[in-house]
Amino acid sequence: METKIIVIRSDREELSLEEEAGLREAGEVIKNGGLVAFPTETVYGLGGDALNPESSKKIYAAKGRPSDNPLIVHIGRLEDLDLLTDHVPEEAEKLAAAFWPGPLTMILEKSRKVPYETTGGLDTVAVRMPSDPVARKLIAYSGGYVAAPSANLSGKPSPTVARYVIEDMMGRIDAIVDGGEGEIGLESTIVDLTVAPPQILRPGYITGRMLEDALQAPVETDVTILKDDSGQAPKAPGMKYRHYAPKGDLVIVEGTSEQVISYINERAAADMAAGGKVGVIATGEQASRYRASVIKSVGSRRDENSIAKHLYTVLREFDDEGVTQIYSEGFDTDGFGQAIMNRLLKAAGHKVVRL
Ligand code: AMP
Ligand code: MG
Repeated sequence: METKIIVIRSDREELSLEEEAGLREAGEVIKNGGLVAFPTETVYGLGGDALNPESSKKIYAAKGRPSDNPLIVHIGRLEDLDLLTDHVPEEAEKLAAAFWPGPLTMILEKSRKVPYETTGGLDTVAVRMPSDPVARKLIAYSGGYVAAPSANLSGKPSPTVARYVIEDMMGRIDAIVDGGEGEIGLESTIVDLTVAPPQILRPGYITGRMLEDALQAPVETDVTILKDDSGQAPKAPGMKYRHYAPKGDLVIVEGTSEQVISYINERAAADMAAGGKVGVIATGEQASRYRASVIKSVGSRRDENSIAKHLYTVLREFDDEGVTQIYSEGFDTDGFGQAIMNRLLKAAGHKVVRL
């Protein structure tokens, strides 16, 4: 299959005529049952018509994703929620008012219009309204309902730049909208509103505290988010797969800065002596203190947003560079940090050294 690349380089709010025409064409592709990868404020999505079961099947095939792992339906207007569910709970209205458009996915009871192919056989549907203007335009041109998981091959980190979408999806889908780098860099927060109290199934930029503030009521968090989930099934089917896994063997090292630096340097020296190529995921503050084959600064310890934005790219770069072992500093698990550690722990298969 030939994959068309549609490049967007203008300010996202003011597209050129050519870019606008490209998105319109991409929307037609989705309407006609095809697949288009596109940027959002979280990560790149792989979009198909959410109401067309054949499109959802194609998404699973293109990603190599198990078909029990449901897709998130992306909409552009609040009123479009009514087709996806027969019951919009009061909490959904409050959370939509506070966080949509934005990086929050809500789980609701699905209506009969939503095919089981899209929900992985579940009676619930995941819905999000993205804020990225390019994503919003594409959704409008596509007929309003775009099912989109992250645009990576199953088992690879979610792509935050078009380069990695192209690497994974070239020849497998109809088109890729290259719209630069996403603002947030980690997937949306998922909150299940079909249970009481609401429960966070996947942490993201919108934190539990932000949800509680908006609802003025307690919100729970799936216990498997920061723990090894081998003994307990996570509630979001996709969270049970070992996503985001780099090729190198990743270990997270926690302790004081001095402990972490000396432990990683010792291990790196031993691994390199044994012929390994060792990578370190460091914060900018202490990157210069490591001795290893490749040291990458993922962001500043004082700016969690910068860490989230670069984490997946750093993991992909280590794959490209053929690193055999990776050591990463650990991060606080407060607020947005919980999402960062959740992804890092999954990438590491929960291998953590606590000093
Ligand atoms: P991705 O689109 O790659 O970010 O993955 C979507 C995530 O949303 C996966 O972890 C899914 O398991 C989760 N998800 C989607 N729909 C539902 C649902 N109805 N109930 C629970 N989790 C869901
Ligand atoms: Mg994904």
